[in-house]
Amino acid sequence: MIPAARITEVHPVMADIRSLCVYCGSSDAGDPGHRAAAHALGRMAAGRGITIIFGGGHVGLMGALADGALGAGGRVIGIIPEHLMAREVAHAGVSEMIVTDSMHTRKRRMFELSDAFCILPGGMGTLDETFEIITWKQLGLHDKPIILVNLNGFWDPLLAMIEHQAEGGYIRPQHVGLLRVVARIESVFEALTVAPAAAVAPREDRL
Ligand code: AMP
Repeated sequence: MIPAARITEVHPVMADIRSLCVYCGSSDAGDPGHRAAAHALGRMAAGRGITIIFGGGHVGLMGALADGALGAGGRVIGIIPEHLMAREVAHAGVSEMIVTDSMHTRKRRMFELSDAFCILPGGMGTLDETFEIITWKQLGLHDKPIILVNLNGFWDPLLAMIEHQAEGGYIRPQHVGLLRVVARIESVFEALTVAPAAAVAPREDRL
């Protein structure tokens, strides 16, 4: 586990966070509590007036997230590549759906529209999205909070791997703290008030 003591810097308060990008699984075949957590995250964001930015699908945790936010009267923006509209069942009820020409454009638009990022359990796609946004931050291309929700220790193996890489000299100690880890959905919004800042000035123009 990444110890909380490694996280020292303070980020602007949550008043600055108007949109939250959530990366999560297109499946919900795992722990039923994950689906409930995704739904709760959407609902809680809506209650705080925060727009949810997500991959646009009505499948898996992604669908539960969007349904939670929409059911609570929240605003939800889906961003989906045209070739995945059928496979990921583009959500018909979102506030806005942005259809992109590629996966890369999808990730770029998700980044541009979001003030912060949150990671729930997921698969390969979730990992891809997570590490892209972390490495962009590591390179100083942006300075947006990134919160990983380690529900029931789901991400423990990943966190152990990051620690292993840091101990092996492949991840700088200050970069370990770029990812803020919380255990519960309720802690996400609290974490956004104290999320760690990037080590260098952001250069979004280089993305
Ligand atoms: P998964 O975690 O594999 O269930 O995928 C979660 C989401 O990530 C799905 O909407 C996938 O379409 C998406 N995804 C997978 N790979 C990529 C990628 N390279 N770029 C952008 N999104 C991706």
